[in-house]
Amino acid sequence: MAKKTRLEWAEIKNRQDKAIEQATDVLAALHIDSAPIDPLAVVASEKPLLTAKGADFRDRFDGQLEYHRSKNRFLLFFNTKYDRQPNGEHHPRTRFSIAHELGHYFLDRHRAYLLRTGKSHPSRGEFLSDRTIETEADAFAAGLLMPSKLIRPLVNGGEMSFADIERWASDFRTSITSTARRSVELSDFPCALIGVREGRVAFSFFAQAMIEGGCYPRPRGSSLPAEAQAKWQSFSVGCLLDTKGQALGRDWCQTFDSYRAARAPVYEHYFGVPATQTLLILLTVPEDELFTDDEDD
Ligand SMILES: [Zn+2]
Repeated sequence: MAKKTRLEWAEIKNRQDKAIEQATDVLAALHIDSAPIDPLAVVASEKPLLTAKGADFRDRFDGQLEYHRSKNRFLLFFNTKYDRQPNGEHHPRTRFSIAHELGHYFLDRHRAYLLRTGKSHPSRGEFLSDRTIETEADAFAAGLLMPSKLIRPLVNGGEMSFADIERWASDFRTSITSTARRSVELSDFPCALIGVREGRVAFSFFAQAMIEGGCYPRPRGSSLPAEAQAKWQSFSVGCLLDTKGQALGRDWCQTFDSYRAARAPVYEHYFGVPATQTLLILLTVPEDELFTDDEDD
C-alpha cells in the first residue's frame, strides 16, 4: 500500500477539520451544549425536509441516506441491530451511524452528490473505510457527538488512560473506539490511537503534537511490532492480561528523516474491543522526548 506523503496527510486532516467545524456550527445553531447529544433531535430540527427511520437491517448497512426528488425529501435509515439496551436507549454504534448519515446530509459536497444521484452508498462501521467521503462523515459524527467545547477540557486535564476514555464514553454515550479517537484528536500532548484488526493496523489517529514532533501514521495494513503482535495473539484468544507495553517511535510511526522521532520512547496502553474484534492501542510519548531545544543528533 502506498505511503502517504506529509502533504497528503495535511489535506486529509484539513477536510476532517472542516467536517468537524460544520458539526460544531449545527450544534451552535440548535443551542445544543450538553452531553449526551441526541442525533435524532438534530434530525427532528430538519423536519420536514429530513426524516429518520430505524429498523433491523441486519448486515445490509449501518446507515443510509436517500434523496427522493419527487417529494423533495431526504430519508435517513439507520440499523438498530445493535440496540439491545435494557433502558431502551440507542446503542452508541446506532447513535454514531445516525450522526454519520447526518454528515452526508449537512456536508455540502455530500449533499450535492446525493441531490445528483438520489442515493448515498450504504455506510458501514466505525472507521472501516478510508475513502475520503466516509472519513469526512465519520469526522462529522465524532464532532457532533463529542463537541470539542465539552470534551477538550477533560482530555487535557491530565495524563490520559483507557479508564478515563471509558468514563467519557459513558457520559457522551459513544463507543470506546470513537471516544478514544476523539480524545487523541483533541489532545495537546503527543499521543496516537492505533486500531488493530486481523493482526494488522486497520486505522490510526494522531494528535497534532505527535505530527509536529515528526511522528506520522503508518499506512493501513502495516504489520505490527513483534511485542504488539504477541498482544494481538493474546487478545484474539480472549486472554489479554498485560495491557502495557513500550516501543520506539519508529516501531509505530513513519518518522521520515527525524532521528529524534524514530528513537523516542513510546508507551503503549492496550484495550480489547471483542464486539468488533479490534485491539486498540493508545500510544503516548513524553513531550520532552520530541520537543527540546538541545538537539544532540
Ligand atoms: Zn457514509
